[in-house]
Amino acid sequence: MTHPAPISNLATHEVENQPVPRTGNLSLWHSDPVLRDHVARAGADAAAIKVAGDAFGSDEARHHAAEARRDPPRLLTHDRAGRRIDEVHFNAGYHAMMDLGLSHGYAASAWHPTGGARPAGHATHAALCYMLSQVEPGTCCPLTMTYAGVPALAADPGLSSQWRPALLSHDHDPAIAPVAQKRGATIGMAMTEKQGGSDVRANSTRAVRDGDAYRLTGHKWFCSAPMSDAFLTLAQADGGLTCFLVPRWLEEGRNRLYVQRLKDKLGNRANASCEIEYDNTRAWRLGEEGAGVKTIIEMVHHTRLDTAIAPAGLMRAALSEASWWVSGRSAFQRRLIDQPLMRAVMADLTLEWDSALALAMGAARAFDDDCAVGRAYSRIAVALAKYLNNKRAPVMIYEALEALGGMGYIEETPMPMLYREAPLNGIWEGSGNVICLDILRTLAKAPLATHALRAQLASVRDTDPRYDAALDAHFKRWPALPPESEARWFTDSLAQLLAASHLIAEAPGAVADGYVATRLAGQRGATIGAVSGLDFDAILARIGTAPE
Ligand SMILES: Cc1cc2nc3c(=O)[nH]c(=O)nc-3n(C[C@H](O)[C@H](O)[C@H](O)COP(=O)(O)OP(=O)(O)OC[C@H]3O[C@@H](n4cnc5c(N)ncnc54)[C@H](O)[C@@H]3O)c2cc1C
Repeated sequence: MTHPAPISNLATHEVENQPVPRTGNLSLWHSDPVLRDHVARAGADAAAIKVAGDAFGSDEARHHAAEARRDPPRLLTHDRAGRRIDEVHFNAGYHAMMDLGLSHGYAASAWHPTGGARPAGHATHAALCYMLSQVEPGTCCPLTMTYAGVPALAADPGLSSQWRPALLSHDHDPAIAPVAQKRGATIGMAMTEKQGGSDVRANSTRAVRDGDAYRLTGHKWFCSAPMSDAFLTLAQADGGLTCFLVPRWLEEGRNRLYVQRLKDKLGNRANASCEIEYDNTRAWRLGEEGAGVKTIIEMVHHTRLDTAIAPAGLMRAALSEASWWVSGRSAFQRRLIDQPLMRAVMADLTLEWDSALALAMGAARAFDDDCAVGRAYSRIAVALAKYLNNKRAPVMIYEALEALGGMGYIEETPMPMLYREAPLNGIWEGSGNVICLDILRTLAKAPLATHALRAQLASVRDTDPRYDAALDAHFKRWPALPPESEARWFTDSLAQLLAASHLIAEAPGAVADGYVATRLAGQRGATIGAVSGLDFDAILARIGTAPE
């Protein structure tokens, strides 16, 4: 890694020992050897991911991303004559990022145009999500929901054939028009209501039959990407909680879907999230009446993959920035990266990111394994990855931020944006407790998932006695499923074992050794960098843009 010479001086002093900002075109593919390994292991579309990695990391893309956040979305409820329009205005940078994501296949690459998934399509998609999350996580939200809406629509072949071509298009078409008139379309979801988000059975929005369609009346408390072309929505029909497709625009004009206000969010600022009201809103049923959860779970299952891989992307962005900084900044006569204690911190940060990426890409490969065992395993693997990766991301990103000293707190670096973004993927699509309870349910009800998980954990037995001991201790402590109150502890333990199993099988020995020693064998304090005896050089080499 080379740091250019200072470019200007001031009248009173020379500016020195301040690493210049990382500008220029930074390929997110070339700079990341661990990503390249995972892509090769999965048989994903390396050529497409490489092209996307070059584009997402370009100077131009980072400029658009910054603009999209600097000028956040604004709600325009009425036109100048006082007619309701309920439109959200986005900065041109937002549209450029949507265009970039869609044109490189973020929403489409997993799916075959005529139905079903492409070989290794989910791994390709996961790699794209991982890379775009590093640059502009807000725009990932509508792109993720579009990717995930496709399999849920398969519940109704008629609706699917009407929408699928537009959802799989590589075009970003923000026009406000019925789907038949658009080059491309995006899809959102509206489940959460004021009185209950995790507990969607508490939904009170009502659905009444109206010819071959339905009319919805009620409200939704969180609905992201309100300019989506349609929303998968839950509402109570006569037969119980049911899934519906609600287009924003009908052939005859605007659907009766009102945006009440935009949420003022901690992060994810380029993306709009809003409260909406349905007032006799036209909707089409997706799946049977009463089967709402079963239908929308197809979408939730796929959005969960992105909520598992995105934190690995956020960690990668934070790690790259910290690595750049500590290799260009000196304190006490030595570059920071040459200070023994900073090497320990950077190595521990690297283990966090490396294990998060291994867990999430392992889950993505399970999504691509379209047999009964693969499908069962994907459900448990993605939940474990979503839980652990999102619990670790805020802590990891904070420590990476601190490696920049005071500069890490300054908005001109990407660190504040990454820090604000870090909690979000842990909340939506199942907050921490809900995911842990879901894991218990899956293991209780799906023997195939239990079998596949145990097989993955057993596959690396007899390589590291500390791993074997930790695995034995887990099953000794929980020979059966734990009580609900221990679900976090159980999940935490299982997710770390799963991450270790991937690293033992896939990563260099020093990385697996470092993870097992510090996460499973207790050779670590409570904070990042409280480690010793690891092969720091070998672990730091994983970053790719490694300090010299
Ligand atoms: C930026 C953002 C965008 C969003 N976008 C969308 C969107 O597009 N569409 C949409 O439908 N929703 C969206 N959401 C909403 C999100 O999915 C919900 O906030 C989430 O599901 C939690 O629901 P809740 O807020 O009602 O919290 P609650 O369900 O009230 O949960 C509160 C806490 O209780 C815990 N908890 C719940 N049940 C149990 C239990 N049985 N045992 C122990 N603990 C429990 C949860 O883990 C959580 O920590 C968005 C949220 C955010 C922050």
